[in-house]
Amino acid sequence: MASKKQFKAESKRLLDLMINSIYTHKEIFLRELISNASDAIDKLYYKALSENLSDVNREDFKVYLEVNKDARTLTIRDNGLGMNKEELEENLGTIAKSGSLAFKKELEEKEKKEEADDIIGQFGVGFYSAFMVAKKVEVVSKKYGEETAYIWTSDAIDGYTIEETSKDSCGTEITLYLKDNGDEENYDEYLQQYEIERLVHKYSDYIRYPIQMMVEEQ
Ligand code: ADP
Ligand code: MG
Repeated sequence: MASKKQFKAESKRLLDLMINSIYTHKEIFLRELISNASDAIDKLYYKALSENLSDVNREDFKVYLEVNKDARTLTIRDNGLGMNKEELEENLGTIAKSGSLAFKKELEEKEKKEEADDIIGQFGVGFYSAFMVAKKVEVVSKKYGEETAYIWTSDAIDGYTIEETSKDSCGTEITLYLKDNGDEENYDEYLQQYEIERLVHKYSDYIRYPIQMMVEEQ
């Protein structure tokens, strides 16, 4: 059993702000996760070009979206560069990144919830936006060229764990366990294919890799 680690103080504060703000554009989490997937593919693509890697083909690059209605999960998967243990720790355990940091500063200055709506749209709010709709997030990742895959898990509230797991190929798979607090907060819409497609068209049309929706068997 892996020991549980706490988020850095400022990350925790941002998480609280994001999760608790009465924010109507929660749907942007998908844009953020798809853009991260695309960034990770870019990284592998440039690595492949600069190091002449023969086992990486541009045509294979894809972002996959998959829902499981029974489990109430939405999964975003990419075949990009992936992350090793240290990178999972560094990138997902801390908020020190561009968009997120700017967002946090701005939000703290205003502090009023009604205004959060305006601000949030202007920044890339990043990975943590997943917690606006998910009660638990699992990130399975395997870095290109490395043997071991890891799973990062968090329910936002008590930090995160990282453990070894298995994964065939490199890349990252992010699974969101959608919140299901009855009428108050219900994110069933993100289990609907048409809603996911709508969001992809609305926010992620510019992504230069194919985004493929995996449809459940009826
Ligand atoms: P930003 O994208 O502005 O850097 P994010 O909060 O969106 O901030 O992501 C934090 C970091 O986590 C990224 O910079 C990247 O290093 C890492 N990351 C997130 N998603 C992925 C992914 N799908 N594949 C590889 N790395 C990722
Ligand atoms: Mg990002």
